Amino acid sequence: MLGNDINYKNSDDIEVAERKYLKVSIKNKYKLIILSLILLFLIPIIFFLDFKMNLNLLMKNDFSENTDGKVLGHFPYKEVPRDSLIEISPNIYVHKQMSKDLLKMQDDALKDGVYLVFLSGFRSIKLQNKIFYSLKSIRNQNAIERSRVSAPPGFSEHSTGFAIDIGDLLNRETDFEVEFENTKAFRWLIKNAAKYHFKMSFDKNQKNVDYEPWHWRYEGTIEALKIFEASNRNLR
Ligand SMILES: [Zn+2]
Repeated sequence: MLGNDINYKNSDDIEVAERKYLKVSIKNKYKLIILSLILLFLIPIIFFLDFKMNLNLLMKNDFSENTDGKVLGHFPYKEVPRDSLIEISPNIYVHKQMSKDLLKMQDDALKDGVYLVFLSGFRSIKLQNKIFYSLKSIRNQNAIERSRVSAPPGFSEHSTGFAIDIGDLLNRETDFEVEFENTKAFRWLIKNAAKYHFKMSFDKNQKNVDYEPWHWRYEGTIEALKIFEASNRNLR
């Protein structure tokens, strides 16, 4: 009898204990599943928000420290697609939108006895890279010194197709030289270029870039004006 009692009590105890354990385990399982689900949803959200915050911080830094995205005094410019370019003289390509005004300007100058010669038009970012880094090393100049006379790759007006370097056919020794300002061609340009929507990009008032009397840019279309908007805003 005693043994049965004990057995009975024991088996009852065990059953109760087992039931309790089962109940708790099922509750815990549910809790665990719900918690896991919450975490599964939360982790990607937290990662995404953190990524966004970092990105915003990065972008803020970029623009607060460096307004307009300038590098060494030059504004950034995208490379124009090749199908927007046209060859106006051997190996000189310019934006189709400016070719008509540019050739008209050359023709009208000729009527005044002035011989404008085109020295350089469109330049790819790859070519600009070559110019900037090879000449810099040849001349033993550092990037800041070099950037006074040449734009870093990705920052040249020439990549837009809307920039042209002009010389005087009768004074080729002044090509790409400040002395170009003493030529008939330059004096004619100062007097007339605006009629054809051309403007000297780097005049004597520029802080970071040297005076380039031979370098002119076209602002005769909305597309061109949009491209040079940041640069023009900087002047006002
Ligand atoms: Zn130029």
